[in-house]
Amino acid sequence: MIPVEEAYEILMSNLCKSKTEPVDIRKSVGRILTESIYADRNFPPFDRVTMDGIAIRFEDWQQGIREFKVQEMQVAGNPPVTLRKSGNCIEVMTGAMMPEGADTIVRYEDFEIEKKVAVVKELKLKKGANVHDEGSDRAIGDQLLEPGGIIGPAEAAVIATVGESIVQVAEPPKVAILTTGDELVDIDEEPLPHQIRKSNSFAIDGALKELGVTSTILHLNDEKEVMKSTIEEVLDKHEVLILSGGVSKGKKDFVPEVLEELGVEKLFHRVKQRPGKPFWFGVRQTEEGTNYVFALPGNPVSTFLCYYRYVKPWLFRSMGGNLTNEIATLDGDFKFEPDLTYFLQVKLSNEGVLKAAPIAGGGSGDLANLVECDAFMELPATKKAFNKGETFPIYRYR
Ligand code: AMP
Ligand code: MG
Repeated sequence: MIPVEEAYEILMSNLCKSKTEPVDIRKSVGRILTESIYADRNFPPFDRVTMDGIAIRFEDWQQGIREFKVQEMQVAGNPPVTLRKSGNCIEVMTGAMMPEGADTIVRYEDFEIEKKVAVVKELKLKKGANVHDEGSDRAIGDQLLEPGGIIGPAEAAVIATVGESIVQVAEPPKVAILTTGDELVDIDEEPLPHQIRKSNSFAIDGALKELGVTSTILHLNDEKEVMKSTIEEVLDKHEVLILSGGVSKGKKDFVPEVLEELGVEKLFHRVKQRPGKPFWFGVRQTEEGTNYVFALPGNPVSTFLCYYRYVKPWLFRSMGGNLTNEIATLDGDFKFEPDLTYFLQVKLSNEGVLKAAPIAGGGSGDLANLVECDAFMELPATKKAFNKGETFPIYRYR
């Protein structure tokens, strides 16, 4: 049995390096960017007028000129005109290039036009007012986005403005979800008193979709030979297998031995944690490539925790994503005696500080409690009493 940190380190040093693929920018939101995006021009690319009004020479203003002859108009989308002489102004519109020879914009609100002459009110005017200077936001060649972030609407806008209609994103690995258990029936079946409906595959499949990962779903009964031949086929067609159930010490828990018989090398089995102690992880190297196999304990809360604490960050890093950690403040006292890391189910609230209220629930089989909570809080094995006001890492699913 190994500590949580060690299990996590083993996973992180066995990443499945995913490939990258080009996608149309309109399909890129939600995907992990795998390239850098650079400014192809200065931002803004020219001295840009930011207010509708007139463009003048500040020197004229300083010399006391308040009436400016309107020479012509400069609208957005036109090449720049030139201010011909002192005392002239150019009518300008937001988004236009600054006319040559002018340096300051006076807003429409601050003057009246009478017979092609702009009469400006007394006001505090600064040189360069209402002009967005070329290159003042970013210079040509600056890195605007680094690889590893999720593309959202803001990133899409930045990618668009540098003219990239096709963008490089992580290609998700091929994933199969394999649930196990003789007691499990399909959700459209009426379970007999000794049966229950399959729910873990829906939790894992839904969680994978949050990362843009699609999966194949299969169910295995607790029969060793059938399990073995099915897993063997699945290994040939998928890089990542996520199993649920059959990894504990029961007489029908065949998953670890089947995996090892199929040449999947065990990297750990059993982690000092609750829930999810029987968690198993291994890899298989063949000429065709590497398989990564996560065998999660079948109890619904255990499966859920193991996915969010281990599988999700592993997949995210494997696809080149930059991980961020989150902490919250415990909003109630809690005790946990065993020498295990405890993943406490918590309800989050945020009134300036992210608070986590403990909602322990009925144990690892109590999947209804998951909807009452938002995250798991990781309480270290080194302590037994956890007090209101202390902060600990959280793993959110909401
Ligand atoms: P196991 O890890 O196979 O010993 O299963 C532990 C508990 O989780 C048992 O009560 C199972 O019925 C339940 N369980 C296992 N797999 C699933 C599943 N796919 N959906 C819902 N419950 C499950
Ligand atoms: Mg089972």
